[in-house]
Amino acid sequence: MSPDDHIDPETPSSSTLDKTNDDRPSRSEAEDAVRTLIRWMGDNPNREGLLDTPKRVVLSYGELFNGYTKNPGDVLSRTFTETDGYTDMVLLRDIRVESYCEHHLLPIIGRAHVAYVPNGRVVGISKLARTVELFSKRLQIQEKLTAQIANAINEALEPKGVAVIIDAVHECMTTRGVHKPGVSMVTKTLLGCFNDDKELRLDFLTSIEHRNV
Ligand code: ZN
Repeated sequence: MSPDDHIDPETPSSSTLDKTNDDRPSRSEAEDAVRTLIRWMGDNPNREGLLDTPKRVVLSYGELFNGYTKNPGDVLSRTFTETDGYTDMVLLRDIRVESYCEHHLLPIIGRAHVAYVPNGRVVGISKLARTVELFSKRLQIQEKLTAQIANAINEALEPKGVAVIIDAVHECMTTRGVHKPGVSMVTKTLLGCFNDDKELRLDFLTSIEHRNV
């Protein structure tokens, strides 16, 4: 492996990763691992059609898992206080979720609904979607993904409450294993006033289900 193997725009900084990733392998080591998997499948990584596959897979993984290189505190750092006294729920619906299960490395595809009740500060709505993306682009289980999104918003905005619901299909369940297509999993994390205020919680759930509110 050459030193150049480590020159990579997506190389994580130590501040965003825990210690377990300090010994990140080089790009060429990762490509070798893909070659090993191809051989394990029973194919020949040296045949023409597969020659560049390890390179493509590693590049693709760099994109699919770039959530390790980002910090939710940075994404949610810019907040606004000029809200003219807006105190109601802010809800972003139907945010596309593309993640990968940490047990099989297979896609988790679904939608997230993210809401919060501001406590004097709001954040740009695209930042909520970016927060979903940041945690999605890591190896995940849906329960943890849901909680991480809610906790990050809660810490950054210190709102009166946060609610996150994710409805997603796990390909490890639909295309292999028990083969149950059409089954989706729903997880939710409710913090602060979404926990305490039954009416608000109902408002949130109703707003997700009915498009014409
Ligand atoms: Zn899985």
